[in-house]
Amino acid sequence: MEKPAIEGGKPVRETPIYYGHQYIDDADIQAVVDVMKSDYLTCGPKIGELENKLCTLTGAKYAVVCANGTAALHMAALAAGVKEGDEVITTPITFAASANCALYCGARPVFADIDPETYNIDPKKVEAAITPATKAVVAVDYTGQSAALDPLRDICKRHGLTLIEDGAHVIGTKYKGQPNGSLSDMTTFSFHPVKTVTGGEGGAVLTNDEALYNKLLLFRAHGITRDESLLEHEPDGPWYYEQIALGFNYRMTDMQAALIISQLDKLPMFGRRRKEIVKRYDEAFSKMPELFVQREIPESDTTRHLYILRLVPEKLTIDRKQFFAALAAENVCCNVHYIPTYYFPYYEKLGYKRGICPNAEKLYGEIISLPLYYAMSDEDVENVIEAVRKIADFYRV
Ligand SMILES: *Cc1c(COP(=O)(O)O)cnc(C)c1O
Repeated sequence: MEKPAIEGGKPVRETPIYYGHQYIDDADIQAVVDVMKSDYLTCGPKIGELENKLCTLTGAKYAVVCANGTAALHMAALAAGVKEGDEVITTPITFAASANCALYCGARPVFADIDPETYNIDPKKVEAAITPATKAVVAVDYTGQSAALDPLRDICKRHGLTLIEDGAHVIGTKYKGQPNGSLSDMTTFSFHPVKTVTGGEGGAVLTNDEALYNKLLLFRAHGITRDESLLEHEPDGPWYYEQIALGFNYRMTDMQAALIISQLDKLPMFGRRRKEIVKRYDEAFSKMPELFVQREIPESDTTRHLYILRLVPEKLTIDRKQFFAALAAENVCCNVHYIPTYYFPYYEKLGYKRGICPNAEKLYGEIISLPLYYAMSDEDVENVIEAVRKIADFYRV
């Protein structure tokens, strides 16, 4: 049996491969340069062009692009009217921003456990967590597989809650044949470089609701408006505007918008390649009893953002931490998505205790995110498989 590099063997590859990486081509670069030579670096025509493109892609009526996915979640929570004393239900298996957006508004995040099959928030646990203080649900499409939107929408409707979909992973995915982005009260996207489509930084909120759309516009730009129907006082000149809410500067630049527009042209190609890699990984790992392959959610036609390797602890003599270190020694540099949000000291100090979401905690102890991105070569993919196989073979019970 071949010795893993961590035991003194030869690593499967000489140079490290990381879990995510952007793909930028000449068209992307030209699009950004063109903006830099134009009159508008911000608040220019690329903003509306990107918003239209996101509406066309998802079927949503309105899109508001912004500085990043976290700003998008904050604006969505504000537009939903989340405020001090409210509760917002979300999953712990996500990036901290999904819960932080409630804290930004003075509300309390409430964690509902995941479905152990799909790894997404369990609608039954959401319903059980509802109290008179609940205002909104933030559902995450973990790894790019759609959250259970039909049951979640039904629950939110019955209880008068706003459904915010944290779609940072979901661009390109369809739920029951419909593109994610048009299916919740509001859906947020992120264009961070590890996501499927990037603008360096960037975010968006999509909605079909005109009232929410108008609020999002206000929160993006200081709460300032020139819309005459909203003004309280008589304009005293053509320069006149009013601040009617406390908003932020959450604007996106035109350079970012141009880059995202150009990247979106490649989304079908990005999606195809990601699917191909997932298929190849699934094929290889489903034959190995030491590993558990993430179940495909049948309602979700997925553009996968993350590939989650799940270990079967009873079949291995090493734990996740040791498996992770053994992969790094092979130059396969992974990550873990995610540490349950309420494990963080900031949340502990707010009174959250471990043990509240056992399915999420068990998942966290067994997972590793493998490299998955468009620009991986077939050789890269085979290297990753070889490294995983080598380690699983060597440390089999
Ligand atoms: C990336 C991410 C965010 C935050 O997006 P930024 O653009 O980095 O602010 C929020 N939620 C999830 C699930 C994410 O993966």
